[in-house]
Amino acid sequence: MSKIGLILGDQLSENIATLQYINKKDDIILMAEVKAEATYVRHHKHKIILIFSAMRNFADKLQKKGYKIKYVKYDDNNSHTIREEIEKLSNEKNINQLVITKPGEYRLLKDLEKLHKKYDVNFLDDNRFFASLNTFNSWAKGRKELTLEYYYRKLRLDNQILMQGNKPIGGKWNYDKENRKTIKDSNIINKPLKFEHDKITKEVIRLVEKEFKGNMGKSDNFNYGVTKEQAEIALRYFLDNNLKNYGQYQDAMMNDQSFLFHSIISCYLNIGLLCPKYCCNMAQKYYDENKAPLNSVEGFIRQILGWREFIRGIYWHYMPGYCEKNFLNHKNDLPEFYWTGKTELNCLKNALNSTINYAYSHHIQRLMITGNFALLTQIDVMQIHQWYLAVYIDAFEWVESPNTIGMSQYGDGGIVATKPYISGGAYINRMSDYCKKCYYDVKTTDKNNSCPFNYLYWNFLILHQDKFRKNHRMAIAYSNLDKMTEKKQKDIIEKSKYFINNVNN
Ligand SMILES: Cc1cc2nc3c(=O)[nH]c(=O)nc-3n(C[C@H](O)[C@H](O)[C@H](O)COP(=O)(O)OP(=O)(O)OC[C@H]3O[C@@H](n4cnc5c(N)ncnc54)[C@H](O)[C@@H]3O)c2cc1C
Ligand code: SF4
Repeated sequence: MSKIGLILGDQLSENIATLQYINKKDDIILMAEVKAEATYVRHHKHKIILIFSAMRNFADKLQKKGYKIKYVKYDDNNSHTIREEIEKLSNEKNINQLVITKPGEYRLLKDLEKLHKKYDVNFLDDNRFFASLNTFNSWAKGRKELTLEYYYRKLRLDNQILMQGNKPIGGKWNYDKENRKTIKDSNIINKPLKFEHDKITKEVIRLVEKEFKGNMGKSDNFNYGVTKEQAEIALRYFLDNNLKNYGQYQDAMMNDQSFLFHSIISCYLNIGLLCPKYCCNMAQKYYDENKAPLNSVEGFIRQILGWREFIRGIYWHYMPGYCEKNFLNHKNDLPEFYWTGKTELNCLKNALNSTINYAYSHHIQRLMITGNFALLTQIDVMQIHQWYLAVYIDAFEWVESPNTIGMSQYGDGGIVATKPYISGGAYINRMSDYCKKCYYDVKTTDKNNSCPFNYLYWNFLILHQDKFRKNHRMAIAYSNLDKMTEKKQKDIIEKSKYFINNVNN
């Protein structure tokens, strides 16, 4: 009996479980570009171009390999939901059996599970991660706190990555402390890789300019790859040129530099064009062949084997309900300049311009600039979550929401982060050259042009003292606050209130 196999826009891997259950001769693969997925937030144009173009390229490849494909384009006769497209095809071909690799997002999984009522559906686990969700859940069971470092060590051991038996290579598990250097000279930074638009991408760009005209970004500077081969070229470019410096400059930021020594592969990993195991094995190979130092290789592997897997585990462990969390009860609206980049705060301007131009900003910009500012100005967690979900090329709820709601906004009350990621201007000044070109003065707190991060930081500590005073990781911050006079604290509260109320002016 024939089956329909569904391939979603983030399941573009030839080893995806669905394809392993499909019989090329009899079964049909369904792929569909639908409004329900393309519009649940106002995605950046680059994200839509990437996904549609990569889907079309992937469908062509499967067809050439002999699979039967039903591909529904956005402007075809299209019901615009995945479930209805499945129903249409099954009626047309009289097929009742479905094979689906579980989607990465809870919302879509729940929707597709409704198909059980009418069809014989085989839901398969996503096989593209180092660890299954069962592995995460068994590890998490009975633990008081879920700490990345311990899960990371377990996965290093289980997968024998950067290990000598049961000992970490080099004697230490983590070299993060060596990874805090700033960049003094922009000449050491390599130009980012750019891929030419193929015929399919050109066609998709025309579609996006017609259907998603008002969304963030421009189509003509779309530079990402759209096939597995191109994604592997991007990985190789990173390994050859940037891996050696990745570790030491991982937290650095610089005026007019969006990419620094980062890999820019999250978008390929998250839609299936790159395999996480392959990326980690390749990085380890560069270490084994003496082409990159241990702090860089360990740092890179920790992000993929550690953070990416841990974050996925957290999402599924706490869903449903995780995305509605707002532990600090923040309710302010997201400033308009998050969509336009028009602000005098130079650090934000840099992070936002990079976001608008490339649907990308690197981790420290997301965490310590846009995230830090949103947390200090008490932005409604749902609004900032939806912003991150919309504007980044790599944003899918399973990876975006624990990073935003948990790590960046402390919205989950401390599941992901043991303390809020907040800082005043001094940290930003230490890690970047932003403050040198800023209208605001990073050295002061009480002047008209004082850096807003400085007083907003203290204001946050005062506002949430009931929640954080007892947190031992915040002890130094609170002991410094306690040294301030009452008058100074009052001025800080007033100044912060004024700034927050006028943030759009
Ligand atoms: C508020 C906020 C929102 C974020 N939203 C997303 C998102 O929607 N999608 C996403 O993939 N990452 C997200 N991240 C994590 C991280 O910022 C990006 O993965 C990274 O910036 C992607 O760029 P890169 O490929 O150059 O990464 P590199 O710095 O080169 O890192 C290598 C790879 O490690 C993985 N990685 C690194 N950090 C994390 C992390 N914290 N969680 C999961 N994977 C990680 C990514 O796959 C990345 O490609 C977010 C972080 C924050 C603070
Ligand atoms: S002075 Fe303050 S606002 Fe300006 S760049 Fe530095 S940290 Fe950002």
